[in-house]
Amino acid sequence: MTRATDIVELSDQQRLVRDSVREICEGYDDEYWRERDREESYPTAFVDELGEHGWFGILVPEEYGGAGMGTPETVVMMEEIARSGGGFTASQAVHGGIYNSVPIVRYGSEALKREVLPAVAAGEEAIQAFGLTEPNAGSNSTAIETFAERDGDDYVVNGQKIWTSRVDASDYILLVARTTPLDEVEKRTRGISMFLVDIDEAVEAESLEMKSIPKSASTAVHAFELWFEDLRVPANRLVGEEGAGFYQVLDGLNEERLVIAAECVGLGELAIDRAVAYANEREVFDRPIGQHQAIQHPLAKAYAQVQAAKQLTYSAAAVVDAQTGTDVGARANMAKYLASEAAFAAADAAVQTHGGFGVATEYDVERYFREARLTRLVPITQELVLNYLGEKVLGLPRSY
Ligand SMILES: Cc1cc2nc3c(=O)[nH]c(=O)nc-3n(C[C@H](O)[C@H](O)[C@H](O)COP(=O)(O)OP(=O)(O)OC[C@H]3O[C@@H](n4cnc5c(N)ncnc54)[C@H](O)[C@@H]3O)c2cc1C
Repeated sequence: MTRATDIVELSDQQRLVRDSVREICEGYDDEYWRERDREESYPTAFVDELGEHGWFGILVPEEYGGAGMGTPETVVMMEEIARSGGGFTASQAVHGGIYNSVPIVRYGSEALKREVLPAVAAGEEAIQAFGLTEPNAGSNSTAIETFAERDGDDYVVNGQKIWTSRVDASDYILLVARTTPLDEVEKRTRGISMFLVDIDEAVEAESLEMKSIPKSASTAVHAFELWFEDLRVPANRLVGEEGAGFYQVLDGLNEERLVIAAECVGLGELAIDRAVAYANEREVFDRPIGQHQAIQHPLAKAYAQVQAAKQLTYSAAAVVDAQTGTDVGARANMAKYLASEAAFAAADAAVQTHGGFGVATEYDVERYFREARLTRLVPITQELVLNYLGEKVLGLPRSY
């Protein structure tokens, strides 16, 4: 399949990342991803191969066995994974395993880093799961109720999480819980802490129960409802400072948001490539359907939107890398917003281009459409992104 022209110039290092990742992705064809979607089965072979090649250590410093790269390389990696045919399903199967190591790198004790990071970088262990969202809190993250109470050398965790992805593909959950009750903190963002929970230990102790949530998009990447009952977590599994967990979540969020944007860009590019190939090939009324402007224009428009989002994503990623202290919050949020909308426009146009086959699973674009729709909801809804821009960037009154 011909790829639509890329307008972003890559550095030598970025090109190297793109080519290496592409080579791995080429081993997993459309049928592989179709099967994962149909059977709702996690892409284990694909994820394991990336792990064997050290890609889960892309953000882990070299002294802990990682590649010590940064956001400019990670956006390329994740865009390529989505674009190579796996779409948002493929990138989401990988995303947590890369990003959940970042708080350990930045805030973990030296002992925790030495214990966990080399195994993550070597693809031997995974921190794929991140548990923040709760049924009663939703987008209002500081309203979480899961509580970790200090008891001797342990914390005792009780509570419930919802939508925790990839628990079945992970050795650990990076868990966010309150350690000081909401009514005892001066700011809602205080009194929240982060823990590294060993999943096998928690299940064996009968302190963790889980149930998969049936859903219709990215079916291969499972999300779970979790119940913690008197789960004892050793105090040395506290990540960073007690009470500062919410700030640790926020730190690094912009970089992660840029990578999500890159995944949306990859998905949008994939949908456009597919639609263009079909539009050139399919003939009705004795001409290729791509000759009609009704087919051309939505694709051209989506292409422009995807490439604009990509420019913003990559330029912001470069600023993060330069570590100039520049606040990339506005750019990261705009990139995520625009890239989700662009991916949705691209997938929608791709479905329309395929006519009736737009909803046939064998042409894949209906899967891209479901995934593109999902990107407008996760990891944060478009509305919450707009709230950020309205308040923090435009200076409008806080709305919530
Ligand atoms: C497939 C999937 C995987 C996920 N994986 C994870 C994971 O691994 N870990 C994790 O912690 N979470 C995960 N999530 C949860 C995800 O982050 C939340 O679903 C998301 O943040 C929205 O929360 P909510 O679903 O409770 O929606 P709600 O907060 O109930 O919001 C419902 C609607 O109201 C809007 N709304 C709410 N408040 C406002 C406001 N102040 N202003 C304007 N609009 C508002 C929202 O934008 C949304 O449209 C996942 C979700 C899905 C669907």
